[in-house]
Amino acid sequence: MGCCCNRNTEEYKQRVRWLSEYHAVFDHLSNEKLLEHETDLLNIFKGQSVRLSHPMIKYFQMLTAVCADRDLLTPQNAQKFPKEFPLASCCCGPAIGILTPFVHKAGLICLHCQETLVPLEDFPQWLREVCESWGSNYEKWSSVVRWNQEQQARAEKMSGKPIGAIYEDSYFQCKDLLKKEAAEIVPGFLEHYPSIVWQDFDPAFNIRPEDIISEETPVQLF
Ligand SMILES: [Zn+2]
Repeated sequence: MGCCCNRNTEEYKQRVRWLSEYHAVFDHLSNEKLLEHETDLLNIFKGQSVRLSHPMIKYFQMLTAVCADRDLLTPQNAQKFPKEFPLASCCCGPAIGILTPFVHKAGLICLHCQETLVPLEDFPQWLREVCESWGSNYEKWSSVVRWNQEQQARAEKMSGKPIGAIYEDSYFQCKDLLKKEAAEIVPGFLEHYPSIVWQDFDPAFNIRPEDIISEETPVQLF
């Protein structure tokens, strides 16, 4: 049985072209071995929250793209995957969502094609309310990086602060909101979904994954 979905959008094709530069390392693997790897990764992700920056996520995205290229993401082959991960209707990849700061508008994003995987209205009510509040708050603070000169001048006048200080305030607010995401929102998704990937960085503010660390994370020196 062939694939059932819309893998014909320009955005998806561009992403596949980009990823295809890495595909050569998988060429010698059989279809069976690829599906085995896919199953192994899904078993690892099951029950876990994973940072979007995690190298295994990039590996999983590549592997899934190779499986898609070989038309392996069929309902029949998906029977080999853990039952918690059905094939997504958007691109037929195993369904895992990404929690992003745009969650209040886009819901959970598909890990494989960036389409909406779970719309906000399908979240459990309490999680929807938390995400609406968190996402709106993040949007407010992060909008500073997109202000034009007129908006910057108006903000300086209203706050009595130079734009550099306003920008710095926004940077720390967004960083704290990403920490809040990790500590308070991500665990909520694991109560309702088999796995969740969460965005742990913001290029607009140059917030890096290593900046989003819980104070309780033990430090191990190697
Ligand atoms: Zn998808």
